[in-house]
Amino acid sequence: MFSNDTNQKEIADFGIVFQNCLDDMVLGAHVSTAGGIHNSIENGNKLQCEAIQIFLANPNRWVSKPPTEDILEKFSEAWKESSIQDVIVHDIHLSNLASHKKDVLEKSRLQFKGMMELAQEAGIQHIVTHLGAHLGEGEDFGLKQLSSSFDLLFETAEASDVLILLETTAGQGTNLGYRFEHLRDVIGMSKYSERFGVCLDTCHVFAAGYDIRTESDCDATFDRFDEIIGLERLKAFHINDAKSEYQSRVDRHEHIGEGNIGTTAFKYILNDYRFAKIPLIIETPKMNTMHGKNLTTLRSLVNE
Ligand SMILES: [Zn+2]
Ligand SMILES: [Zn+2]
Repeated sequence: MFSNDTNQKEIADFGIVFQNCLDDMVLGAHVSTAGGIHNSIENGNKLQCEAIQIFLANPNRWVSKPPTEDILEKFSEAWKESSIQDVIVHDIHLSNLASHKKDVLEKSRLQFKGMMELAQEAGIQHIVTHLGAHLGEGEDFGLKQLSSSFDLLFETAEASDVLILLETTAGQGTNLGYRFEHLRDVIGMSKYSERFGVCLDTCHVFAAGYDIRTESDCDATFDRFDEIIGLERLKAFHINDAKSEYQSRVDRHEHIGEGNIGTTAFKYILNDYRFAKIPLIIETPKMNTMHGKNLTTLRSLVNE
């Protein structure tokens, strides 16, 4: 429908016609929190993100100084005023909630508890986490250990609104999470299965051996996901092309359309209404200079 205002308004309406097709898709990026977590909102705004993913702490350190009350308030204010619908937290890299080593396990649990409570305080509902590594103890051991870690966290963290999104992984080394069954089992063994969702990383599933290069590959992979985990658990995507090869179990992200996956998979996801309202987050390299270009590429793949 065209407004009867001015020519300028009519021109703007053409934009709205295009946006209407994008309206149901929630596109965004992993952005920096340098200078305080409130800055992540500004970084997301600059990229016209509808969703962002952030670290709440330095991902390479066990202990970080938590944000002050003042910063948390600034974050909430900025978020409220922005058009960002979802903020997702990503767990730190050091964490291994599946470890058999007592010290690592305890540090991981303590760190994760703090992160859940901080997310709750900041009004953030989703924390994305990898499944950790079994370090030679075997996958069954690792998955069980992980599920127990989450049960303990759900029972002790003051974070009743926070959901854990288990991320599909590439399966490097002894990392868990490269089969959909691993995610299903962690959720299934937990006493609190309702507290879990899943984040599907396109680069990781591809490297793990779920092909998504053609439309029929995508059909098959999402059917498989639905059968094993259930599409209703899918609460976020990481949209990354892959520098790594198919079935390589190597985790290397690439710019959209420049990797071994190619644009077909992204076009498929962006135009499938099963994935409407689910945050689609890029974690492609060189975020300061390349995020804009990668998001533009993705927006161009949405059918008009
Ligand atoms: Zn990811
Ligand atoms: Zn990755």
